[in-house]
Parts: sequence; C-alpha cells; structure tokens
Amino acid sequence: MEIQTIRKTPEARSAAQLPDPDGARAGFSWEQAREMLDGLPGGGLNIAHEAVDRHARGAGATRPALIWLGRDGDRREITYARLADDASRFAGVLARHGLGPGDRLYLLAGRVPELYTAALGALRAGLAVTPLFAAFGPEPIRMRMEIGAANVLVTTAALYRRKVAEWRTELPSLKLVIVIDDAAPEGCAAWTTEMAAAQKLEDCAATDPEDTALIHFTSGTTGRPKGVIHVHQAVLAHALTGRYALELAPGVRYWCTADPGWVTGTSYGLISPLVNGATMIVDEAEFDVARWYRILDEEAVEVWYTAPTAIRRLMRAGKKAAAGHDFTKLRHLASVGEPLNPEGVVWGEEVFGRPFHDTWWQTETGAIMIANTAAMDIQPGSMGKPLPGITAGILRRTDDDALEECGPGETGELALRPGWPSMMRGYLGEEARYRKAFDEGWYLSGDLAQRDTEGFFWFVGRADDLIKSAGHLIGPFEVESALMEHPAVAEAAVIGLPDETAGEVVRAYVALNPGHEPSADLEQDIRGLARKRLGPAVAPREVSFRDNLPKTRSGKIMRRLLKARELGLPEGDTSTLETEDKPAPTPQGGTA
Ligand code: ATP
Ligand code: MG
Repeated sequence: MEIQTIRKTPEARSAAQLPDPDGARAGFSWEQAREMLDGLPGGGLNIAHEAVDRHARGAGATRPALIWLGRDGDRREITYARLADDASRFAGVLARHGLGPGDRLYLLAGRVPELYTAALGALRAGLAVTPLFAAFGPEPIRMRMEIGAANVLVTTAALYRRKVAEWRTELPSLKLVIVIDDAAPEGCAAWTTEMAAAQKLEDCAATDPEDTALIHFTSGTTGRPKGVIHVHQAVLAHALTGRYALELAPGVRYWCTADPGWVTGTSYGLISPLVNGATMIVDEAEFDVARWYRILDEEAVEVWYTAPTAIRRLMRAGKKAAAGHDFTKLRHLASVGEPLNPEGVVWGEEVFGRPFHDTWWQTETGAIMIANTAAMDIQPGSMGKPLPGITAGILRRTDDDALEECGPGETGELALRPGWPSMMRGYLGEEARYRKAFDEGWYLSGDLAQRDTEGFFWFVGRADDLIKSAGHLIGPFEVESALMEHPAVAEAAVIGLPDETAGEVVRAYVALNPGHEPSADLEQDIRGLARKRLGPAVAPREVSFRDNLPKTRSGKIMRRLLKARELGLPEGDTSTLETEDKPAPTPQGGTA
C-alpha cells in the first residue's frame, strides 16, 4: 500500500481551534503566551495553582476535572472545586509534618484519585514531585528514591509491604510514608486519618518559576534511567502545547492513556489538561481492547492521546473488535513515545474516521516539541512540524568537530534551541552528562531525523541504533515501517549486527498477527516485500520470528536488548524491562 498525504476536510480544519504551526510561528513569543496563566503575586508561579485553584475559583468550579473509572466498575466525577479542596488539604498534611519547599515527594500507586490529589497538593506546598510506575519491582524503586533522596512517599499498604518495607530504614532521607488506605502498616501514616487531621493550606507556596517542581525518570530504553529536573515554569509549555497540539480547552473530554509514572502521564495526563480546564478521563484498569473501545464510546471522549504500542495492540485485535461503537464524538487522536508507523496513522482513519497525529518529545523536553496538529495535512510517518516557540534543527558534526545544519532530506541529529519553558534544568546527580547534551547553542536530543523541503520532520532512529551497512546509513524506523506493511506483521524491530564485509548487516525481528504462523515461506515473503520497498542494500538480510519483542514497561521496543542477546553480551540495565512474570502493563506514551 502506498501511503499518501491525508488532506484535512474544511470541517476538520475549522474544528481545529488554532492555525497550523507555520501560520502561528511568526507572531509567537513565550512572553505573550504567559497570558494563558494566572501567576502568583510578586512574580511567583506554581503548577498546582495554574492547574486547579484558578479554575476552582472561577467558572470552572463545578466542571468535572477528573472522571475516574475504577477497575471494578466504579465511576466518580471530581469537580475542579473538589480537587482544589482535596489538594489544599493534602498540602496541609505535608505542612503539618514540617515538609515544604526543598523537600521531595515520591508517588507510587496505581491510577487512583488520591494520586492526583497528592501530586497537586505537594506542588501547592512547594515540594518537588517524582511519580514512579507502580509495577516497578523493589530495586528500581529503591534506586530512584536513593538518587532523588526522597523525603515523603505516598503509596498503598500493599505496595509498601511488597516493595519498600524491607529496605526503608536504609534510606535515611525518607521521613514520612503515607498509605492510601484506612489501616497503615507500622511506621506509616494513613491517608484518611491524615486528611481528617489536617487544615487546608490556604495559601499556595510562593514558588519561583525556576524552583524545581518535577523530577522524572526517563524510560531506560537506551540505558540506565536518568532523573530529569523540571521547574514550575514548565507549566507554560504544558498549557500552550496542550492547547495547540492536543486541542485542549475548557470542558473538552480528554483521555491520556499514559500512567503518571511516566512523563506523558504527568505532563499530559495531569498538568496540561487541568491547566486548560479540560475534563480528564482516568482509567484505573490495565489495557484491554474491549474496555478501551467502550471507554472511548461511553465516556464520549473527544481528544485521545495514546502510544504506538497501544495502537499496535488494537490493530492486532482486528477492526471487528471496534464494531458497534459510536466514535463520532472523537475529534482528535494523537500519539507519542515511539515512531508511529504510517500503517497506524491510516488505521486511525479507518476505525475512528480520523488519523492519528504523531507528536515527538522526550522526558528532557518536558512537553511536545514537534507535532502534527489538527489544522495540518498529515504526511503519514512524519512527526510533523515544530510548535510555535520551538526552533528545531538537523545537525551533523564536521571533521573539525563543529556542528552544521543538514540540508533537506539529509539525516542528522535532531536538536532544539534552548529557551522553551519546560526544558530540563539538569540530570539529577549527573552534571557532566547534562552539560554534554548542549553544544554551540543547541540541545542535542540523541535522536536522528530528517527535515524535508516543506519543513516536515521525519524520525530516523536513535543515534545509538543507526545501522551502517556497506557504506549506507540505515535508520531502523524506515525498515520497520516497511515490514509493518506486510499483513502478517504486528510488530517489528530492526538492528545492525556486526559483519566482516559489510560492517553491519540489517537483522529484523517480527511478531505476527493472530492467524499467522512462522514459516520459511512467510520469512521469504516478508523479506521480499522489504526488498521491494527499500532495495536490497537496506532490506533485512534475515527476519526472525518472536512471540513478543522485548519492551520497556512503558511499551517501547528495546533494540539494545535484542542486540545484546543476539551477540551474547551483557544486557545492561533491565529495570524497566517488561517481563512475563510481571503482568502486562497498560501501554504507555512513555515519553515517556
Ligand atoms: P532513555 O533516555 O532512558 O533511554 P527514552 O529515551 O525512551 O529512555 P523517554 O524520554 O521516555 O525515554 O522517551 C523519549 C524518546 O522516545 C525520544 O527521544 C524518541 O527516541 C522516542 N520518541 C518519542 N516520541 C516519538 C515519536 N513521535 N517518534 C519517534 N520516536 C519518539
Ligand atoms: Mg532518552
């Protein structure tokens, strides 16, 4: 199938609230964008104030901020006024324990309302917040809490007993553990008792825009996860990009499927929708095809932000699984976390009547940098264009180690001009690594991409994943997308393996759709298609079948593990690896 530009109808365009990035860039300044925010007296800025307090005091008070869908069928609507009230009370709990600016709170819980209250309450009280993914084992949790010298942990009694109790006394910085249960294990405080005993913290902490607000750990796709520091000022980027790339506005019913344990689930599963006054759908349960279609339909979701790994799983279940549902309310679909193959974009059109809009960003950028917006025609397979306020470039190193910009269609490192509000302010405890990410006035992302003559950006692969074969530079994404065109292929990963003559040879791994069995004929057929699409120099020499590809718990394919296993090398940090003995998590947008 040749995939062509998806042209937006005039209706789809006029439903888009804003002009396309090219049209908006000229008159844009971050200073002016600050009008989207309220601010604190004296020039202060606090994410919680922007996210809930100002709506709770205005016309948004009775609007649902959060619609919570419990695993067992409970459904709760929490208004902005209620959320602001609960967050103020939780801020009071922290203040009562003498905790405030300079302290660090960690979250370790499933998607329950208290998690959202605790995050907002802690920000309001001036603490820095680090969400952890609840499915992590004891070691990854301990490592992250040690790196960040955690002072407070909000978790559940069950998670505490299983994953924290054993080593808690070895983390002297940890002063308080609050469990979201009525009965607390020894040495912990109970949420209900604490909330009942506390006074609301009436005044939001007078945080400075440059005070640390969030510390996020990266997904660990390429190595040991890094603790990325973000400040309150980031909320300006959350506000603008949510509005611009996700069409968020007051009352819009919005579902971000990412867990707050990853940056997507915090930036766009908590802060951005609330700052924009939207209504967030939060599902406690893990991924389930039938359940997800039901939620989209019954909750009348208008904007949906999800990840390629989830899209691939829905595709694998077949179109029939979506039959009988009404998706007419759905008007914007977006994706993040991994490259979105053209097949996925087009499948969105077929099942929901709308294409998926790819967006690109990283834990380090804190917010969406490059996106296909509702007002744009879509080139399936492209990440889109830089949002207003973002300058992106494609760079290469010259022989004397300087940086220069590549021309259209040339592959280079995707880089950004520092200065946007949600840019990371450091890697926790890794100053040298942080400094290395900047050079000649650019932030270097570690991803490779191309820009075409129309200004669209195309993802090529991670710099570490680039394959050099017989003089060709091959990006895994291009090869994977070609493999995905084969009807039998559900997922594909491509790596380079050392080879004496070619330097490296291209090796592909695929997982098949239901109804297809591995065979020599099928292998040949898949390779044949790839050769036709890509030519013999770029097509994989060999295609191996796997039941599942190794992924991070946020659903990203770990190419480095495939390579290490193939070559019998050490596997490196696998703390974020999804394994069979850990239940399959909900696929995330992992950027995170
Ligand atoms: P680590 O840095 O620990 O190896 P990670 O890079 O996967 O992990 P995140 O910050 O969660 O951690 O992910 C950001 C990365 O995800 C990007 O640098 C990019 O490689 C990939 N990514 C995100 N969105 C897209 C997209 N739309 N297209 C292609 N790749 C994407
Ligand atoms: Mg990264």
